Amino acid sequence: MSGDEGASVTLAYGQGASAPRVAAPPTDEEILLHTPLASMLDALPDAVLIYTADGRILRANSVARDMFSLDSRPNFATLPLEERLAAIAPRNLDGTQVSLENWHVARILRGETITGEHATEARIRSLDGQERVFGFTGAPIRNDEGEVIGAITIVREISERWWGEKEKAQALARLQQRDAQLQRQAAMLERTHEAIFLWELGGPIIYWNRGAELLYGYTAAEAVGRRSHELLQTVHPMGFADFETFLRGVGEWTGELQHMTRDGRQADVLSRHQALHETDGKLYVLETSRDITERKQMERELSQRAAELESANRQMDEFLSIVGHELRTPLASIKPNLQLAERQIRRLTEQLEASAPQPGGQDSLGSLRTLVDRSLRQVNRMTRLVNDLTDASRIRSDRLELQLTLSDLGDIVRECIEEQRQATMGRVIQLDLPEASVPVEVDGLRIGQVVTNYLTNALRYTPPDQPITVSVRAKDGQARVAVRDRGPGISTEEQAHIWQRFYRVPGVQHQSESGVGLGLGLFISKSLVVRHDGRIGVESKPGQGATFWFTLPLAE
Ligand code: ADP
Repeated sequence: MSGDEGASVTLAYGQGASAPRVAAPPTDEEILLHTPLASMLDALPDAVLIYTADGRILRANSVARDMFSLDSRPNFATLPLEERLAAIAPRNLDGTQVSLENWHVARILRGETITGEHATEARIRSLDGQERVFGFTGAPIRNDEGEVIGAITIVREISERWWGEKEKAQALARLQQRDAQLQRQAAMLERTHEAIFLWELGGPIIYWNRGAELLYGYTAAEAVGRRSHELLQTVHPMGFADFETFLRGVGEWTGELQHMTRDGRQADVLSRHQALHETDGKLYVLETSRDITERKQMERELSQRAAELESANRQMDEFLSIVGHELRTPLASIKPNLQLAERQIRRLTEQLEASAPQPGGQDSLGSLRTLVDRSLRQVNRMTRLVNDLTDASRIRSDRLELQLTLSDLGDIVRECIEEQRQATMGRVIQLDLPEASVPVEVDGLRIGQVVTNYLTNALRYTPPDQPITVSVRAKDGQARVAVRDRGPGISTEEQAHIWQRFYRVPGVQHQSESGVGLGLGLFISKSLVVRHDGRIGVESKPGQGATFWFTLPLAE
């Protein structure tokens, strides 16, 4: 600091603005020499303020009065410094508040001189409410004894310079931020495993990331400058020319493509193209591709295997249909022949008994009859299996036809039970029928087939001394038939499978001699009920028997 003394101003005029009194009229030079302070201050281009020792504004030149709109609040100048500061809320340039003791006026009144290079700068809210930035310099005013009796400050507005710098600094910070962001994005593009490259629509590649190098085998130096679809021999589902037009119009495309790698491998990629309009008027395409070659290969293999399975399935269906058909014809002639033989044996036995009963003769006829009976039973069983085969292949090829007639479901069920009672002498089948008829529009033979299938299964799996219970109900527009048995039951997991073609629950013991089926009965039953717009199901717990049921819409 250059020393407070030297920079102090010794004010000769005191508080008044008028010239001092002299004995003789002053000369012009004397008048000029003693130009009133007010005129001198008003001539200055800067704001000048003179403060009393207690910080009140004693004098302000016209620039200062304008600058701080002092005339709008006449008593403002005489307010204590503290109150004035509260009104203008001065802040440092970094936004922090300026305290009372640091305010330049207080510092000067304590004897400090604030000159050019040490000028303090602050933002204040001027009395017209505007936020402005000022630079302050000043010095204490001392009396002859050197005591500080006041202060003079010069104030310059630097708002424009400051706001300009602030804006510049902000713009710079924004640029730096964007730069850092771009750098981060570029680093990310490099690190990502996806192949990312940028090309000009109708023009060359201009960016090629590490992922693209790894996927396609071309380095960035080799790829940049080439046309992407030529370099990668793109096979595009739209055709490349149409695709370019599409991109121009729609702006983006996502789909699967084929590219050729540097070592001649065909790569399947899932690709996303995004058109970017740049300020140079050109259209760029950001292409992001992920290698899906392995997945596509697996898909191709799977669909080939599915096609092979489908074809094997078709061949099996055809084979079963032929087997069914070919077995039907010989069976159709064996059965009546056996029936004929059985009738003749019976007649012969009767004749023999009537004419001359010979011991032993009836015995051999008797065993012949047993043989024929057994063969007839086997032929019946085989006929059932062949019928199942033929029905299943008809269902599979959608060739099963229904003959719908209005029938009483009770009658159908009763007939089926009667048939089973005769075939399984001694088995108990209880029937629970409603009194009124249960009208349904169905193919009676086919619905009978479903009931018979339920019954034969129930008889097959239930111990012979246990009854089977059948019920028929009509409710809410639906008829419901349920067959309850006391067999081994079916686990929830198996319940989901038993309706499939050829499915048989492994390890289930059956109780009758009718033998195992082909695993087609429930498949056929389900198809038949569904064809009649009905529903089908089973309720069962292992060890507690099973209730197989189906519903049919009641006829109006
Ligand atoms: P199958 O002609 O072999 O009986 P189904 O399609 O009629 O074929 O039945 C499929 C499988 O469901 C049977 O093999 C058997 O394991 C099981 N199943 C069917 N009905 C019953 C039942 N009432 N009790 C227990 N298991 C049954």
